[in-house]
Amino acid sequence: MKAEIVSIGTELLLGQITDTNAPYIASQLPLLGINLYWISQVGDNQSRVVEVLQRAWNRSDIIVTTGGLGPTQDDITRESIARMLNEELKVDTALEVEVRGFFAQRGVQMPLSNLKQATLIPSARAIINPRGTAPGWWVQKNGKLIIAIPGPPAEMRRMWEKEVVNRLREHVKGDVILSRTIKTLGLSEAAVDELLGPMLNDTNPTIGVYAKIDGIHLRMTVKAGSQKEARAILAAREKEVRELLKDKIWGTDDQNLEGLVGEMLTSRKLRIGVMESCTGGLLASILTDVPGSSAYFTGGVIAYANDVKVAWGVPEDLIASHGAISRETAGAMAGAIRERMGTDIGLSTTGVAGPDELEGNPVGLVYIGLDNGKNNKVTRLNLPPRRPDVKIRAAVAALFELRKMLLNEY
Ligand code: ATP
Ligand code: MG
Repeated sequence: MKAEIVSIGTELLLGQITDTNAPYIASQLPLLGINLYWISQVGDNQSRVVEVLQRAWNRSDIIVTTGGLGPTQDDITRESIARMLNEELKVDTALEVEVRGFFAQRGVQMPLSNLKQATLIPSARAIINPRGTAPGWWVQKNGKLIIAIPGPPAEMRRMWEKEVVNRLREHVKGDVILSRTIKTLGLSEAAVDELLGPMLNDTNPTIGVYAKIDGIHLRMTVKAGSQKEARAILAAREKEVRELLKDKIWGTDDQNLEGLVGEMLTSRKLRIGVMESCTGGLLASILTDVPGSSAYFTGGVIAYANDVKVAWGVPEDLIASHGAISRETAGAMAGAIRERMGTDIGLSTTGVAGPDELEGNPVGLVYIGLDNGKNNKVTRLNLPPRRPDVKIRAAVAALFELRKMLLNEY
């Protein structure tokens, strides 16, 4: 089944509104196993709307239009469909009662212009719209389908979810496309490639490998006869992937690291403080992106200068003998902030963000310190030497190490 979406409205062409209807419908079609091939936008001009509809009719099986179903002169979607199919528009009496009822309920007389919203062509059936006066159209002819939906996004969405999806599912009875994303950290793209091997060449499910700031994401996409079957295929493949990538996997789909550690800290009633050097506050910023983070995040210190590290409890002679960017300093920073803030966990970052080397250390060298009172653990990272990337990658790595500690020690 080939589908096409046509967004109708001059406002779209004038750049006054952005087409949000088409992307929404586009995101819903794969769930029904419908392939979307084209999205078009056209203004409120009848001959051009007819032209676009005619082209869509010739090349697609399913056409979804939004907009132009209102009562005014420039709402011409019904007229255009009628003209394209060479069918006659007639007021449908049952529909007229319904549209009149909408106005009666509000105690106002129906303007005559609204009568056109009660029109149908022989191939069309009305789709009810409790949110507005404009019913949609379900047009079936010669094995093809046109679904005309009102433009206002709230009406469009309700009609899609409540009236269209089920009928459409019946209509296509085709394949379902489902995806699942698995998120990893600590592996290169090449390493993922090697570990997954021939799996990456499979066509059902396919696996796409994407390098993101929070690691390598694997997007598995399956096509199957039913939701159930699609889910089963994905689950089986996910199991295999998990066996290969093991603890490098930290999450799925729309999960993020800060949300995951936030949940773990909240449920275990643990609190955390941070002392940041090379991440310059980014770690605290990300931690507090999570709603409810005040339950576990007490605060952070940006200890950029050594004086500040010392003022917050890092021994001066330790920095002097090992350097600010060292395993020892990172560990001491984590321990010091935990004690000063009276938290369960202290987390620290120190490293070289660049562009220049520091104390003879290369750009991208970062230490992450973690201290929970029993253990003091430091992780050394060699990140790609680009300053903005070093900051965000160091912050993400700190969250990853925190998650590891939470998984193993609490
Ligand atoms: P109405 O009965 O409100 O006139 P309609 O079906 O005739 O509905 P339009 O007149 O084309 O729809 O658009 C009405 C409003 O809906 C627009 O002003 C705009 O705010 C919104 N809208 C229409 N199409 C889109 C779209 N593709 N994306 C986002 N918003 C849209
Ligand atoms: Mg309108």
